[in-house]
Amino acid sequence: MRFLLFDLDGTLIVSGGAGTRSLNRAFFELYGIEDALSKVPPPGRTDPEIVRDVFLVFMGREPEPEEYEKIFERYLKYLPHEINNPNYEVLPGVKEFLERAKNEGFALGLATGNIEKGARIKLSPSSLLSYFSFGAYGSDSIKRSKLLKIAVERGRKIYGEPEAVYVVGDTPRDVEAAREAGFYSIAVANGFSERSELETASPDFLFSDMHDAMRFFNEGLYLNR
Ligand SMILES: [Mg+2]
Repeated sequence: MRFLLFDLDGTLIVSGGAGTRSLNRAFFELYGIEDALSKVPPPGRTDPEIVRDVFLVFMGREPEPEEYEKIFERYLKYLPHEINNPNYEVLPGVKEFLERAKNEGFALGLATGNIEKGARIKLSPSSLLSYFSFGAYGSDSIKRSKLLKIAVERGRKIYGEPEAVYVVGDTPRDVEAAREAGFYSIAVANGFSERSELETASPDFLFSDMHDAMRFFNEGLYLNR
């Protein structure tokens, strides 16, 4: 079986800034830091990386484990409210792509830097969650390449050894993490990164959006890998 692992923000959905607003609010209320994420752009970073980097930038030190917990607890309090906003969107072609992948016999997993509870809240307005039978999250590891490996390990327990693993994401960090973990990368250029930035990262496949990514199946692109 072939595994397809999906990043969340900028790949499956855009949250309309819900994550940023919730985390900014948590940092303001707990530490008095205003607009914390303006100095630590979230795209491509795992949630714990964002928290760590805000601490480094504003406080010159790494957070303690209980500080991560407090921040995420506060973040999760605001996210369910923030996610209901008019700019929330399932990205074009995503449902068609997932449907096709399922029909082609791929095993679909989530591999996102979001902490697990945050990922579930962010996907709750969509009907996408049911496509994924396994996953790994920012709550599993701060390091994206590590959480990709954890996702594959979980998939392997259900489906056995994969023939190939493809990582779908929207930033150079997704491409680099896939390479580091030893998997193929599929970059889509309608999320948080420019096409030129993604080209520089040299993904195995580069598509303008998920409609374009249907070529992966229509042209049998994966068969060459
Ligand atoms: Mg992303």
